[in-house]
Amino acid sequence: MTDNTEEKEKTTDLQNASAESEDKNDKYENFCFLCRRTESQCGRLIELPNRIFVCQDCMQKSFDTMNTQFSGGFDLGELLNRFPNISMVTLGPDGPVQNTNRQKIKKKEEAKPKPAFDIRKIPAPHKIKAMLDDYVIGQEHAKKVMSVAVYNHYKRVGSDMQDGVEIEKSNMLMIGPTGSGKTYMVRTLAKLLDVPLAIADATSLTEAGYIGDDIESVVSKLLAAADNDVEKAEHGIIFVDEIDKLAKKKNTNQRDVSGEAVQQGMLKLLEGSEIEVPVGASSKNAMVPMVTVNTRNILFICGGAFPDLENIIKERLNKQASIGFYADLKDKYDNDPTVLSKVTVEDLRAFGMIPEFLGRLPMIFTLDGLTEDDLVQVLKEPRNAIIRQYQKLLAMDEVKLSFEDEALHAIAARAMEKDTGARALRAILEEFMLDIMYEIPKDDNIGEVIITREYIEGKGGPRILLRGQTSYV
Ligand code: ADP
Repeated sequence: MTDNTEEKEKTTDLQNASAESEDKNDKYENFCFLCRRTESQCGRLIELPNRIFVCQDCMQKSFDTMNTQFSGGFDLGELLNRFPNISMVTLGPDGPVQNTNRQKIKKKEEAKPKPAFDIRKIPAPHKIKAMLDDYVIGQEHAKKVMSVAVYNHYKRVGSDMQDGVEIEKSNMLMIGPTGSGKTYMVRTLAKLLDVPLAIADATSLTEAGYIGDDIESVVSKLLAAADNDVEKAEHGIIFVDEIDKLAKKKNTNQRDVSGEAVQQGMLKLLEGSEIEVPVGASSKNAMVPMVTVNTRNILFICGGAFPDLENIIKERLNKQASIGFYADLKDKYDNDPTVLSKVTVEDLRAFGMIPEFLGRLPMIFTLDGLTEDDLVQVLKEPRNAIIRQYQKLLAMDEVKLSFEDEALHAIAARAMEKDTGARALRAILEEFMLDIMYEIPKDDNIGEVIITREYIEGKGGPRILLRGQTSYV
């Protein structure tokens, strides 16, 4: 008998203890299903089936709403307005089921499910050139060479080597004065082909271990441009600008860590090799994960202005011309504007590029300096021409903007003086457009602005036409 009572006591003790521990484990307070306030905030909660709790305030509000609404019809919308936290609630066998018919937030990755690179989509060279024509003025030869090189490159990427014939990489070297469109062409090309592009500046590169960016950092830039998608990056384009700054320094006994050594270091990248690159960082360290990127199918385009290269070419041509029976005038090439296009690998070697480096850039071509007429075209012809951009901006204020041809020539002439090609155009135009962009929105009556030569030359102002007016003031 005594044993039995002891046992009973024990079990009730155990039950109490387990209830206590359950209470302790239950760290969360119950809260009102409608207004989300906790029990400590709104007082005792009323428990409904399926462990749903509602505070007394909300319960009262629900009754009030139903009472008023039922006389003229029950309005669920009104109820929802009063309780913003309540969505369509269905009570399922296992408790409340939230309405699943809600709009899903689009995940970034899901938004653009792109297939891996599809080689059949690469357009034929003439189509690539036609697309470039929409954006790039002049540079006919460069556009042609580039279109063929890019076409061949991506054909090579898609080809198999089962027959033993390996198509060589068509890395490029672009030579052209500053502002002639080197970077612009590469940028446009990458955009048209929808491949990732990394633009690196050769002057910031140094041999590994020295202050400056490692050569391999160009690959991590490309990886970043490809949203860390290795496969995409492996079909991308790397543009190394200012490549002429890597020329061998003459008459120096010091180690050339930013010139010749970088050329040497780039060899394996150009050729194709497996590079370990940090993900999401520009330098390697223990904290960043690494991935391996194969540069075999990455298209490398190097560009540079190569100042003084013209003199090297002229010297060679003059030497050739002055020898032997067909000796020519000594200064025949001095004023020849096309002399740069006669460049050979030997000239580039004389400039300071190493032969192994040049050997890995089989497509060497030049861009012409832009003439005044070209600059006028650059202003108005390309799809995203600068004046079209201004016209669009003013059109938003319902003001028409036009330029007299003479004015465009005056802007181009100013840009020619700066000797930085098309680069100067935007700065010059910005200077003149500033006042217009500032003043025009002040007056709603203005319907049209015409930029005149006098305005560009500082001898007058732009012509303004009021709305509804058809002749100039
Ligand atoms: P660089 O040859 O020095 O790399 P860029 O390509 O950076 O010159 O040119 C600077 C800007 O000038 C470009 O952003 C582009 O707007 C314009 N530009 C240069 N060349 C051309 C061209 N041939 N056709 C159209 N726009 C050009």
